[in-house]
Amino acid sequence: MAMSLDKTEARPRLDKPLGFRLIGTRIERVAQFLENHVRSSLCDSCIAAGIELFSVTDAGYATNSLQRRNGKFQRHRGTCARCEKKKIVTVAL
Ligand SMILES: [Zn+2]
Repeated sequence: MAMSLDKTEARPRLDKPLGFRLIGTRIERVAQFLENHVRSSLCDSCIAAGIELFSVTDAGYATNSLQRRNGKFQRHRGTCARCEKKKIVTVAL
C-alpha cells in the first residue's frame, strides 16, 4: 500500500538534503520514543504524531531499521495502543 493515510499533516516538511548523520538521528529519536513507551505497540502514524517534525515515512523507515538492527524492537501486525487501529505496530521490549 503506497496510499498515504496521513491527511492531517500540517507541519512544515524538512526538505533539506539529509545526510547519514541525520538519518541516524531519526532512528535514535524513534528508539527513544519507543523506549519511553516501553511495551506499548504503536503504529507508524502514532509514532510520527508523537515526535516533533516527523513524518509517517520517517517513522516507517526508522521502525524498519530498528527492527533489523536491534532485537529490542519488534514489528508485527497488531492493534495500536494509541489509535486502536489494526496495523503494523512497533514495540520496545
Ligand atoms: Zn496508531
